[in-house]
Amino acid sequence: MTTPGKASLLLLSCLFIIIFYTCCLNSHSGAELQTPVEKNGQLSINGAYMVNQEGKPITLRGMSLFWSQWMGKYYNYDCIKWLRDDWHCEVVRAALGVGSDIGYMAFPEVEMKKITEVIEAGIKLGIYIVVDWHSHFAERTTGEAVSFFSRIAEDYGEYPNIIYEVYNEPLNVSWDTVVKPYAEQVIAAIRKYDKNNIVIVGTPRWSQDVDIAAQNPIDDQNVAYAFHFYASTHKQLFRDKCQVAIDSGLALWVSEFGTCFSDGDGAINYEELNTWMDFMKKNKISWCNWSVADKEETSSILKPNADPRGNWPDDMLTESGLLIRNILSEKGD
Ligand code: CA
Repeated sequence: MTTPGKASLLLLSCLFIIIFYTCCLNSHSGAELQTPVEKNGQLSINGAYMVNQEGKPITLRGMSLFWSQWMGKYYNYDCIKWLRDDWHCEVVRAALGVGSDIGYMAFPEVEMKKITEVIEAGIKLGIYIVVDWHSHFAERTTGEAVSFFSRIAEDYGEYPNIIYEVYNEPLNVSWDTVVKPYAEQVIAAIRKYDKNNIVIVGTPRWSQDVDIAAQNPIDDQNVAYAFHFYASTHKQLFRDKCQVAIDSGLALWVSEFGTCFSDGDGAINYEELNTWMDFMKKNKISWCNWSVADKEETSSILKPNADPRGNWPDDMLTESGLLIRNILSEKGD
């Protein structure tokens, strides 16, 4: 047996280094070496901030899926993986279409399956998933919301990936006597199984009256309050409302925003969107853009018939899609 010469030792070392780096890169398909959940772990709320496992204030940025009963085709593992790898989403929002004659109220198991598929994808992929009770009248379905969130918390509450959003957008109803009592019932059901994951609560008038919620917050350590905006409709007046809430120590979460008007359509307001982006960055507010859909309206990120499994080339993205993908590709924190 001959002893290896210096040249073969060098060759061997190089080989090991190459193998080591190939393994590292493959683990996340060339994305960041650590997934968002590996990096941040268990989230919690500290004053007006969402903080990671080390207590550092962080923001999560990502996409909201569209109502599950209308755009269920994008509720699958491959699509969520594409959103993580190509779109740099740290969080994806699964919008359970509650509905009445269609959606969860009519076909609970059909819609539940879509949501759990996205949750399980998020757990495998190491991203956060917002589980959203997508309704404008959640107080009419309190019993169903309680049983839905109990089941989600029991099955998945041990994973730091899960963020509960118990009420998408209340209409013009009272915070004190309608939204808050509803949220308290649902949160109590969640807390039976999951003591610590964050719960986002919608606020009156399409999740805009965060200043009103700030006067009577919910007694739970890990609650954030939803604020939604559409850049062509909501301007400084609404940033002022957010500032009032932030100044009184409320943690805000923009679980939904659009680049256009609040009906999801019309022209994009680039300047106002920019101002909102600066505002969210400055105040460390996490966000999801509305929405992963191929419906013909401005807020959709996809053109009609875009592949349900991701793999979207630039020419399948809409103007809003290109804009948001570009923002997500800029480094967050
Ligand atoms: Ca938990």
